[in-house]
Amino acid sequence: MRILLVDDSHSAAMAMTARLHTYGHVVVRAADGQEAVEAFREHAPDLVLMDLEMPRLNGFDATNRIRAEESLEPGAWTPIIFLTASSHESSLVTAIEAGADDFISKSAPEPVLRAKMAAMARIAALRQRLWEANDRLRQLADLDGLTGLANRRSLDGRIDAQWRLAQRDATPFGILMMDIDHFKAYNDLYSHLGGDDCLRKVAQAIGAVAQAEGSDQVFAARYGGEEFVMVTAGLDREKTLGLAQRVVAEVGTLRLPHRGNPPWGIVTVSVGLAWSARGTGQAEDLLREADEALYCAKRGGRNRLAQHPAG
Ligand code: GH3
Ligand code: MG
Ligand code: MG
Ligand code: MG
Repeated sequence: MRILLVDDSHSAAMAMTARLHTYGHVVVRAADGQEAVEAFREHAPDLVLMDLEMPRLNGFDATNRIRAEESLEPGAWTPIIFLTASSHESSLVTAIEAGADDFISKSAPEPVLRAKMAAMARIAALRQRLWEANDRLRQLADLDGLTGLANRRSLDGRIDAQWRLAQRDATPFGILMMDIDHFKAYNDLYSHLGGDDCLRKVAQAIGAVAQAEGSDQVFAARYGGEEFVMVTAGLDREKTLGLAQRVVAEVGTLRLPHRGNPPWGIVTVSVGLAWSARGTGQAEDLLREADEALYCAKRGGRNRLAQHPAG
């Protein structure tokens, strides 16, 4: 474990550090509560061993501050154990109330300290696994299960955040609305499972086009059904247009047979483009405009892109 040891007494800290080293732990030292709060931020320890009485900021107040910082980050929690001299046992209730988890005497016999550290190491490992599982879940919650692209939920969040940035910095914002042509017929001809497979391949092509442009600037998501959306940040209209053309071309390049899509005979997409120079108005308006443009591309014969405003 990485242990933050907080004690104003140099000799006591040296003695404790030596013991902790023999158990294989890494020790970061702080000489008072103020230093402890700073070291906590910097080193993100697995465990804090906290003295009670110290100059500047005592152990109670330092614990309070650490807990206050942790409360800003959901799920964050680091065990804090108070180091006590036997005369301090009356302060233990206060210590627990301040946010400490446990206490141990500075003069605890070797096996007791060793056992307590082993228990804490177990908790630290568990906490690490929990964080990792949480991270994975958070990622999964943002992905579409079928295609692996970002899902509608994460698209909505991205549009919100990016629209605010575009407004603040007066930078361009673009939306491409993409829809597979005659996909109902595809399902009818090649089965629903075949349709799912097609969706995956088209999604992959769309994802690759977005990725080639850089994830800061282009974000691709499955909007729902056989519809996809790309959001562009900071790209001028020409570049956004180029992106839309690439999507149409790349899906064509897959050359997936589709008898129900004349005259093309392969799977194609139609794309509607809407673009705003400075993020003026509402994001919803831009989405609606992209949808209108998509409708024009469909009416114009599919396998093509159309822009809003038309022309
Ligand atoms: P258009 O060229 O005008 O877009 O015609 P279309 O047939 O693609 O349009 P429509 O919206 O009528 O059909 C969409 C079809 O997409 C209907 C639905 O069964 C199918 N679909 C939606 N989600 C899925 C999915 O997850 N898997 C499969 N296989 N099909 C889906
Ligand atoms: Mg002290
Ligand atoms: Mg559709
Ligand atoms: Mg369609």
